[in-house]
Amino acid sequence: MAYGSELLLSPSPIEKPIAAAPAPAAACDDEKSTKALQFIEEVTKNTDSVQEKVLEEILRQNADTEYLKRFGLNGSTDRHTFKSKIPVVTYEDLQPDIQRIANGDRSPIFCSYPISEFLTSSGTSAGERKLMPFIHQELDRRQLLYSLLMPVMNQYVPDLDKGKALHFLFNRPFDPYNVYTSPNEAILCPDSFQSMYTQMLCGLIMRLQVLRVGAVFASGLLRAIRFLQLNWQDLCNDISTGTLSPKITDPSIRECMAKLLKPDPELADFIISECSGENWDRIITRIWPNTKYLDVIVTGAMAQYIPTLDYYSGGLPKACTMYGSSECYFGLNLRPISDPSEVSYTIMPNMGYFEFIPHDDSSPLTLSRDSPPPLVDLADVEVGKHYELVITTYCGLNRYRVGDILQVTGFHNAAPEFRFVRRKNVLLSIDSDKTDESELQRGIENASVLLKEFNTTVVEYTSYADTKSIPGHYVIYWELMMKNASCPPTNEVLNQCCLAMEESLNSVYRQGRVADNSIGPLEIRVVKNGTFEELMDYAISRGASINQYKVPRCVSFTPIMELLDSRVVSVHFSPAAPHWTPERRASAMQ
Ligand code: AMP
Repeated sequence: MAYGSELLLSPSPIEKPIAAAPAPAAACDDEKSTKALQFIEEVTKNTDSVQEKVLEEILRQNADTEYLKRFGLNGSTDRHTFKSKIPVVTYEDLQPDIQRIANGDRSPIFCSYPISEFLTSSGTSAGERKLMPFIHQELDRRQLLYSLLMPVMNQYVPDLDKGKALHFLFNRPFDPYNVYTSPNEAILCPDSFQSMYTQMLCGLIMRLQVLRVGAVFASGLLRAIRFLQLNWQDLCNDISTGTLSPKITDPSIRECMAKLLKPDPELADFIISECSGENWDRIITRIWPNTKYLDVIVTGAMAQYIPTLDYYSGGLPKACTMYGSSECYFGLNLRPISDPSEVSYTIMPNMGYFEFIPHDDSSPLTLSRDSPPPLVDLADVEVGKHYELVITTYCGLNRYRVGDILQVTGFHNAAPEFRFVRRKNVLLSIDSDKTDESELQRGIENASVLLKEFNTTVVEYTSYADTKSIPGHYVIYWELMMKNASCPPTNEVLNQCCLAMEESLNSVYRQGRVADNSIGPLEIRVVKNGTFEELMDYAISRGASINQYKVPRCVSFTPIMELLDSRVVSVHFSPAAPHWTPERRASAMQ
């Protein structure tokens, strides 16, 4: 059994057949496009009957699994019996069974087909990445969704088949239907520096052929720009001389670049002239002038990066093409060039069986087995309402809470369109890391231990995801109480507190810090005594009730940030990288 990528979201292909049969990398021809668009119309017009059929198929396929038998489904495939017998669950409920599979149990626990690999989700459970069982057959279904993306995009942006995509991909399965500037060898290289270096080098060499620039999420693209800022001299040297930097040691990359790299001093001079200045405004369109749009997801937590992307691209359109997860691909954006604030995803009824828990922040629903929750079917959700997504998949997840909160914005035929509102319980996020309130609290507690010998405690705290710097980093505001003012905690100790917090955060965060360099060192800003009381006064002046006031554990509202920053007395950064090893991958490879 193998362990797959963190997120199987791959970029939109230029050409992809509707069926999963391999096709040559050729243009997205009219016939294929028409068929793809017809397919979308068909399944969205028949949302409810497609959903009924999907559930029936899943339950028939998995009738003999231990999981469905455990709840006495007895081979039933109808919605009513399914809903009355099968509980709504979270990852934690399934973890013991998932662990059995990871330990080598080959019996049909969730799925009648063998689990071919685990995909590791960026969501964490007890600090470890979630493992999502995956079956080979699911690839076809996911490729089917991909095959729809470019026909939809072609309706808005023509001639995308006349060039290439500069798409930064890391450790992802290569998709043979895409025409990328990046060679396979670079995409699959496990060393993130060598992978990024080669992908950037190829993007620069083929700069005039590039029609769209992207990465799965906005943070990935900004990381690539930052990489260019730090490495353009080496890259230009390679282009000028036609020889690959000795920093690139991967033999397969060296072999493939030997064929691609030819001395081109003129191109090197051009890139030097663009990159050597202080001003990086519109750098994307200056280097890749034929870019029509940015292919990046900027909805959800990624919205924080929009101003920076606009700065680097001169406000190019940002196409959020699809919405999916390791568990299941959900749907696509039928108006991919719409403004990020208006992006809605149409859940495709053929991808899995979807149910929705009505969500109201002011009265969160508690789910119990005795009183089944009033889950709503895909075709029955109501415009304007918020819901939490629950999925049943061909891979064997049954009534599984994904953790995403969505709002219905309208319908395409009978299929609802959803705005991605947020992930439940996520306070801070820079890249694929998701830190919730309890993790932050635990981090504060562990760091506070270092303050004990100074008779100092953290009386209040809040946090902020600073994405102005690249890579972004967590900022934690601390108000301290010192019982012995003559012996305050030293600078070194406060720096160590930053590291202690990082050590307490989950493995996705630490991987971002250590292996991916997608997150910068954590920062603690100590504020003056009384600052948090001022914060409360401010909230009350804006209408909050004293009884109900709670210190916000994460802030982003400008006046509050200004207040906090104006009270900062000292600033501290983590002096080293936290501990991280890819233990799970290494130990679980079989
Ligand atoms: P993963 O489990 O690592 O595959 O991450 C999947 C999660 O990423 C989803 O459940 C969402 O929370 C988030 N995500 C994926 N696609 C989008 C999107 N288009 N917009 C906003 N968030 C997304």
